[in-house]
Amino acid sequence: MSQLAGLSFEFTEEQEKLRQAYRNFAMKELAPNSLRWAKAEKFPFQALKAMGDFGLLGMTFPKSVGGGERSWVDLSIAVEEIGRADLSCAWIALMGNSYPKLLNDEAILREIIAGRRLLAFAETEPHAGGDAANIKTTAERRNGNYVINGLKTFVSLVPGSDLLVVTALTDPAAGGKRGMSMILVEADRPGLNITAIPEPGVQAHMLGTIKFDNVTVPCSNLIGEENRGFYMMRERWDYTRGVGPTMITGAVLQALDDTVARAKAKQTFGRPLLKWQSIQFKLVEHYTKIEAARLLAYKAAWMADNHQRVTQYASMLKYYIAEVATAALADCLEIWGGAAFNEEHSVFRKHLDIMGWKAAGGGQDIHKIVIGTEMFGGEYATHRAHTEQKN
Ligand SMILES: Cc1cc2nc3c(=O)[nH]c(=O)nc-3n(C[C@H](O)[C@H](O)[C@H](O)COP(=O)(O)OP(=O)(O)OC[C@H]3O[C@@H](n4cnc5c(N)ncnc54)[C@H](O)[C@@H]3O)c2cc1C
Repeated sequence: MSQLAGLSFEFTEEQEKLRQAYRNFAMKELAPNSLRWAKAEKFPFQALKAMGDFGLLGMTFPKSVGGGERSWVDLSIAVEEIGRADLSCAWIALMGNSYPKLLNDEAILREIIAGRRLLAFAETEPHAGGDAANIKTTAERRNGNYVINGLKTFVSLVPGSDLLVVTALTDPAAGGKRGMSMILVEADRPGLNITAIPEPGVQAHMLGTIKFDNVTVPCSNLIGEENRGFYMMRERWDYTRGVGPTMITGAVLQALDDTVARAKAKQTFGRPLLKWQSIQFKLVEHYTKIEAARLLAYKAAWMADNHQRVTQYASMLKYYIAEVATAALADCLEIWGGAAFNEEHSVFRKHLDIMGWKAAGGGQDIHKIVIGTEMFGGEYATHRAHTEQKN
């Protein structure tokens, strides 16, 4: 394609080859185990190790720590292909690429990138999800240690992770925005209690609650600067939201492809379902909307590669993909008829997986708040009190 207009919508030849390699890996190593892992109720370490061996964790990290020195666009391609095979594994791969960015301990990074250790990120609390600054967990400095008390919930990769990045108030009087820090906590510390939440979707990626009862870690476990945790967390979100959504486009594209195959094979009133205009039009509309979502997704990854601010784009993407994916999977289920009304069916499972995606990282309206604030400025931020905006 001509570069004259300054735009290119082509992947490089190397990226096309990578996509094929990722798809082959995902279909051979991950897809056949997807249902078994989802039902096992424990973390799929086999998948983690296989993805580490294949270079899917730490893809954007320097080679000196075992990373692949690849771009965010390359990572989006990988996550999209894994998403076709298994959404839980795509989620695990995405986190294996974004959470470790918070760490600077090379020895630990190497282990994580190899898939031998696992890192989770615990920010949400029962009263602080979309309103993420409203946390109550505290980390009090005592004799060179932090003593942590509080409760985190809906934490991905838990149980399973042996390392946790925890957000806690180190200056409670200053509140969540100016008094929050990030602290690395080993999951086997005394006083730490993890319980699994029974998930309906993305089951193998695991979801847990963590209670901290006087959990003590050395102050050297602080990540970055004390009381800057909120801003570090926000920066990280841009990457999980900006690159992550290709796992959803991959999952939905596979569901649409499977549904087309079904609509060719299943006949009603003497002709294949796909020959009925209402069925074919539904599928065509969803392929079109998912393609629009893919363009947003790859643009966000390209912006990240070009060190551009992705906050607004990442939220547009997170919101838009959730809308189109939910609608596409609902219609896929309808086209499958009774055959997909089965909790082991891949389309039915994806339909539940998407509900998790919708809630994770903030609901739809939270992203509209972010988009509006980016577009119209803090003065018009709908979530802040009028007096707060004036001050
Ligand atoms: C599968 C999954 C994985 C997750 N992984 C992690 C993880 O790894 N680590 C972690 O810390 N957390 C994780 N979470 C938690 C997740 O980030 C939160 O669930 C999310 O931030 C939403 O918070 P909430 O559930 O408290 O919903 P709330 O914030 O209470 O929102 C509930 C609903 O109200 C809407 N809403 C909220 N405020 C407003 C407003 N001002 N105006 C209009 N509408 C509003 C939202 O859009 C949403 O629809 C995960 C959750 C899921 C489901």
